[in-house]
Amino acid sequence: MAEVEKQDRRVDSVELVKTYLEDETYSDALLVQSEILRLSREFLAEKGFVEILPVIVSTITDPLNHDVFEAQIDYYGNKYYVTKSMILQKQVSVLIHDKIFSFSPNLRLETAEKYSSGRHLIDFVQLDIEAKETKREEIMDLMEDLIIYVLKGILTKYSGIIEKYHPNLTVPKKPFQKISVKKAKELYGDDYEKILSERAEGPVWLIDIPLLNREFYDKQDMDNPDVLLDFDLIYPEGHGEGISGGEREHEYEQIVKRIKLKGNGLESYEDYLKLAKEGLLKHSAGCGIGIERFTKYILDLDHVEKSRLFAKAPGKYTI
Ligand code: AMP
Ligand code: MG
Repeated sequence: MAEVEKQDRRVDSVELVKTYLEDETYSDALLVQSEILRLSREFLAEKGFVEILPVIVSTITDPLNHDVFEAQIDYYGNKYYVTKSMILQKQVSVLIHDKIFSFSPNLRLETAEKYSSGRHLIDFVQLDIEAKETKREEIMDLMEDLIIYVLKGILTKYSGIIEKYHPNLTVPKKPFQKISVKKAKELYGDDYEKILSERAEGPVWLIDIPLLNREFYDKQDMDNPDVLLDFDLIYPEGHGEGISGGEREHEYEQIVKRIKLKGNGLESYEDYLKLAKEGLLKHSAGCGIGIERFTKYILDLDHVEKSRLFAKAPGKYTI
């Protein structure tokens, strides 16, 4: 990305801590968030998922489909990337245990204008889930159950907090509505994601995302090669995207083709390609649900920076 001018939007640390103490949104959000973590763990353990520790630095990370500033660490003359997502590590981990999850901290140095989306941080945590030899529909079904489980638990334990921030919050019914990106575009035009989120009655799945809108690790739909076997979950009430996932590409030739299709060089994906060539990637599917955005939706917060302590919002500089 191009060089940028220095900005000094430093958040005063004393003011920040005073805000935490005075504005009860923060203490309420922490209770709800802690319960999201507890309930998600409980739910996934019961379904046979094994929790793995997050990976913070690696020789490889997610290329992402949008520009962020690079975060690299020089270690004895070699380059470590700070994790933007654990996509490769997830694909490898399912060889050891078929079903895994991790609360994975991701660093994505988003550009300052992303602040106004209300849902970007540069340092956030996603609950990353992956399962071997699994179809995307099974992951979508699992996530519907997880969301319902978490919402029910929170509405039971923290009904007073929900009443204060989001009194009309209801537990969605299965199956959630599904719409293809093609159909959504026909109905709502290019701003389909925003309009869908504003008008939806409950969470909606956006499926069949166009090939070039996502990265090489999402599997192409061979019956409909313009799209991928993937999905996003769009929260209602304007909260926007909360989950992304899909079936993964594991075949060497396909991965090479897809990296090239995006105009990217193969050099940065050396480890990915080596593993694929050895047949050490298998068919899997999975997704990530952002914890801060999930909290924002549950509490109907106007900005994701209120969903956690020490939030790093795009363009700001803080403890
Ligand atoms: P992705 O696969 O890149 O869509 O990331 C998975 C999930 O992580 C998203 O659906 C969001 O819930 C969350 N997420 C992604 N980027 C950010 C960000 N910059 N700030 C907060 N949450 C994010
Ligand atoms: Mg996404």
